[in-house]
Amino acid sequence: MAMRDEAESKSEHESQSSRDGSGWIKPQSEEQRRFFPPLQLLESVFQNTNNSILITTAQLAPPGPEIVYVNPYFTAMTGYAPDEVIGKTPRILQGPKTDRKVLERLRHNLSNGKCFVGQAINYRKDGSEFHMEWRIAPIRAADGEITHFVAVQNDVSEFKAAEASSRAALLESQARYDELFEHANDIIFTADLEKRFTSINETTVDITGFTRDELLGAEVSLIVPPEHLDKVREMLRSKVQTGKPTTYEIEILTKDGKYVPIEVSSRLIYENGEPAGIQGIARDITERKQSDAALRIAAATFKTHECIMVTDERGTILRVNERFTEITGYSAAEAVGMNPRILKSGRHGKEFYRQMWAAIKDKGFWEGEVWNRRKNREVFPQHLTITAVQDESRRTTHYVAIAQDITVRKRAEQQLLVANESLRHSHAELERRNLELQQMTYAASHDLQEPLRSISSYSQLVDRGYRDSLDDEGRSWLDAIVRNTKRMQALIQDLRAYTVLDAPCHSFDAIDLEKVLADAVANLTSSIQDSGAEVTFDPLPIIKGNPSQLVQLFQNLIGNAIKYRSKETPKVHISAEQDDESWIISVSDNGIGIETKHHDTIFEIFRRLHHRHEQPGTGIGLAICRRVVQQHHGNISVDSAVNQGSTFRFTIPIEQEEVRA
Ligand code: ADP
Repeated sequence: MAMRDEAESKSEHESQSSRDGSGWIKPQSEEQRRFFPPLQLLESVFQNTNNSILITTAQLAPPGPEIVYVNPYFTAMTGYAPDEVIGKTPRILQGPKTDRKVLERLRHNLSNGKCFVGQAINYRKDGSEFHMEWRIAPIRAADGEITHFVAVQNDVSEFKAAEASSRAALLESQARYDELFEHANDIIFTADLEKRFTSINETTVDITGFTRDELLGAEVSLIVPPEHLDKVREMLRSKVQTGKPTTYEIEILTKDGKYVPIEVSSRLIYENGEPAGIQGIARDITERKQSDAALRIAAATFKTHECIMVTDERGTILRVNERFTEITGYSAAEAVGMNPRILKSGRHGKEFYRQMWAAIKDKGFWEGEVWNRRKNREVFPQHLTITAVQDESRRTTHYVAIAQDITVRKRAEQQLLVANESLRHSHAELERRNLELQQMTYAASHDLQEPLRSISSYSQLVDRGYRDSLDDEGRSWLDAIVRNTKRMQALIQDLRAYTVLDAPCHSFDAIDLEKVLADAVANLTSSIQDSGAEVTFDPLPIIKGNPSQLVQLFQNLIGNAIKYRSKETPKVHISAEQDDESWIISVSDNGIGIETKHHDTIFEIFRRLHHRHEQPGTGIGLAICRRVVQQHHGNISVDSAVNQGSTFRFTIPIEQEEVRA
């Protein structure tokens, strides 16, 4: 309390005796006046400096030092006019954010008569904050007693802000560096010259599968398999010898036994000018190796026999292979950069190409035959496959067209077409000629019959009227004429019957085979009676066919069975059986039989096994049978052996629909 009183009375005295409006102390005594010029000088410095200057009393005990002077810059910095602060304590500049520790240090220094330098947040008159730096020094009187403190103050807010931001930036870049170092895609390491790891990043742990503890201090041979160690040694030697960094590819062996190809770039680190170790970065190049392989495979594929063209997504040709040049005539230099339109033949319409592109868009590819044009304007066919190449986002980046020249195949196809055409043509020609021949034969046999009938009539007249006037020789000649005329008539008749069979038969009716058989037997009445033959039959089916032709068929087969009989009474039996597709009709006899070697030939026209003196016949009978069966889309065969009788079998398809000849 006593101190406070003392201070108050002192300041009162001073304020009364030495202050004017400017806050400056006027020289009072003679002694002071002596020092006036230097004081004036000082004043001018104080008035004009860009540092805030504040002078207080040396009163440290509460209520603390009292401000006795502030310069204009103080007013500029804090907003307080001298009137507003003189007589008050500098605490008016302090506030909630002012660092108490700094103030404690300040008090401590000053009470020990020391200078103080410090920084803290201060407050302007308007309440706004700023960083202030103080430099405070005690002012001593001649007796050494501290009478005042002079504080030079600076606003260091901007510097503070800059410092704060640069510190943040530093921290951030450090963090970024750490992050980059630890989690880079690449292995980052340092090692000593004995090839022992001295530092590694997190990626090393991730890739190798070894822990940080296992790796640090371990030799690189922990992860480099023996077959690559020589390379590592050689590269280290090269670095030490040349001082130059090295880049090389090796494989590492992970903890779980996997080989990983890496590319290592490393350089020496120096300590005191001497190589002390290496730092390096190693990249996992598995993917690159794979794509290298894929590229090599693609390159090999490119050399194939097929013509290959690669375009970008707009269709601009990027690459073609040699085969492309061979086939189209365009060199790679001519084709690259062009549009595949250069190959268009003009043979396909807009719709063709529209469908092609629709398919590529839809299914990712198109395959088909296309006519293209070579550089020499020649049009040629190709079998073409166009495939869209897509990236991960399923965007089409390229198109690959693979084509085979199918000129040769097309030519063969063309030739086949021509051959077929001419075959059809000659077939038609043959049919036409056949018909002509038929008509001719029919007409000829008809016309031949007229003169034959005359010969027959006249020879009969000669026989009746003049037989007796002829001698034996004349009579035998006359007999020969009559006999040969009859034979001629029979031949012509059979020939006509055969020819008629070739006429196209448009439709078949359902007919009862038993009725057909009855008609045939009726036609054979006389020979059956003469020979005493027995003709028997099993139930026969109703089939679709031509009745008169089938009567002829039965008549010929039964007729032959009687004609070529053995010494026994001829027995002819007709039966029918059925398989999946056909009726099988058999006509069997107990006749002389036929040698196996003749089983096929007997069905040929004019083919006879017997001389006409033994048995009368024309050799047309079985040919007619075969023709009839063929007209009914069946076949005929014989099963026979000499003296064992014969069985002729013919088939008639069951569902005999309308059939054309
Ligand atoms: P052909 O007018 O001579 O009878 P076919 O064509 O009817 O002419 O018969 C051809 C030959 O087949 C006959 O000459 C005969 O030798 C032999 N042949 C036909 N049918 C029989 C049969 N049922 N038994 C023995 N031989 C037969």
